[in-house]
Amino acid sequence: MHNHYDVVIAGAGPAGAQCARDLAERGYDVVVLETEVEEEFPAQSNKSTGGTFASMMTSFGIPDDVVMHATDSVVIESPNEHFIQNQPGFVLEFAEFKTFLVEDGREKGAEYLFDARVRDPIVEDGDVVGVRYNSDKEVYGDLVIDATGPAAPLAKDLGVVNLERANHAIGIEYLFEGVDLTHPDFADLTDAMMLRLDHEYAPGGYSWIFHTGGDTAKVGVCYLQNERYQKHATQSRTVDGYLEHWLDTDPRLKNAGRIADNQVRGSAHVQHPSSMSTDSFMAIGDTVPSVDPVWGEGVYKCMKSARAAAMTADRCLTGRIDTSASEMAVYDDLWNEQVAPRQSRRLMMTRLLYLAPNGRYDRLMQDLNKLNRNTLSEINNGNRREIVKLLYPRDLAFLWKYWRELY
Ligand SMILES: Cc1cc2nc3c(=O)[nH]c(=O)nc-3n(C[C@H](O)[C@H](O)[C@H](O)COP(=O)(O)OP(=O)(O)OC[C@H]3O[C@@H](n4cnc5c(N)ncnc54)[C@H](O)[C@@H]3O)c2cc1C
Repeated sequence: MHNHYDVVIAGAGPAGAQCARDLAERGYDVVVLETEVEEEFPAQSNKSTGGTFASMMTSFGIPDDVVMHATDSVVIESPNEHFIQNQPGFVLEFAEFKTFLVEDGREKGAEYLFDARVRDPIVEDGDVVGVRYNSDKEVYGDLVIDATGPAAPLAKDLGVVNLERANHAIGIEYLFEGVDLTHPDFADLTDAMMLRLDHEYAPGGYSWIFHTGGDTAKVGVCYLQNERYQKHATQSRTVDGYLEHWLDTDPRLKNAGRIADNQVRGSAHVQHPSSMSTDSFMAIGDTVPSVDPVWGEGVYKCMKSARAAAMTADRCLTGRIDTSASEMAVYDDLWNEQVAPRQSRRLMMTRLLYLAPNGRYDRLMQDLNKLNRNTLSEINNGNRREIVKLLYPRDLAFLWKYWRELY
């Protein structure tokens, strides 16, 4: 390892490792500093269900070897109804996916330094010139990228992101065997990724069962840790308590047993980023945060933000090097145009969805079942006219809550 690189990246998650892949492929001298030790990587950071779609796999050349199970539908459940969308998808073996990104990046020329906990940025004359890691070690670069997820030590220190507690979502998941995927009272979950809207199990969020083959499935719960969203909670429970409660009461999970060493636990922020870059610095992935607020699809979004950062770096480091804040702002533009083009609408949908009461979810499923694919896609894209068509006069109570949430 040398002391100066074109680009220094903190964090070897999907965002950091993908950015290193793209930059190394373009011939840049890039190093990734990852806090975990290599022999155990990824341990603590093995924190995702890894549900994704063909567009991500194709765009980033992800091999089938890291797929745990291929699915062919997405099911959305409410307490008494469900809606099925036929859509091919993939549940990744997340640890293998992360390992692939690192190995492929190395083959392309990226360097990795494990057991390197990034502490803070080195700033000279207002310019970020490197990072300090572990107790007193330093490494320098023309550009520095924070890809440490919600930890964000560099972006927070530089005042680039303000990750708010009120927008903090937490999640937990285990891999189970003995799951009844074809229970007669529910939708068939064979080869499906199912998301359940039900405040009984995830107040202000959703729970999920993602089929992973045979009678196994990833089963989890996540929600916004904000009391406004948890108004519909019937009891005060921890996130572990809600998962336990679901296991105790859902007949599909009656005989389900945990497969050892398969706990996933993590968090993300559901908010619009105020900024993403400054002189010689960019924040990518969940550091920004890039995760889709409605359904928590973070893998594809974070990889896209990584590519936007790599494109910006390529632009700033080609010819006369110019990494001034105004040049780095190209990344912000790319993020808004290509990573999360309708983020404020997605945030509006998130608020509407998670502030609504349980009974409203059943009605929503009935309405979704009547719509054609184009309208569903418009709704998913945040088309206000189509979203408004799904509302009823009796929704005024929770629309009022939505309004208060905004102002
Ligand atoms: C329970 C759960 C389930 C999820 N399920 C899905 C899903 O099904 N589909 C989907 O698309 N998304 C899902 N997501 C979201 C997705 O996993 C994240 O959006 C994505 O992993 C974020 O990638 P990232 O690279 O930005 O950050 P992270 O994945 O958080 O990676 C950050 C990396 O930085 C390292 N790091 C942290 N601090 C430091 C430091 N100080 N110095 C050096 N390194 C550091 C970490 O060890 C880690 O390797 C889920 C998230 C959770 C929590």
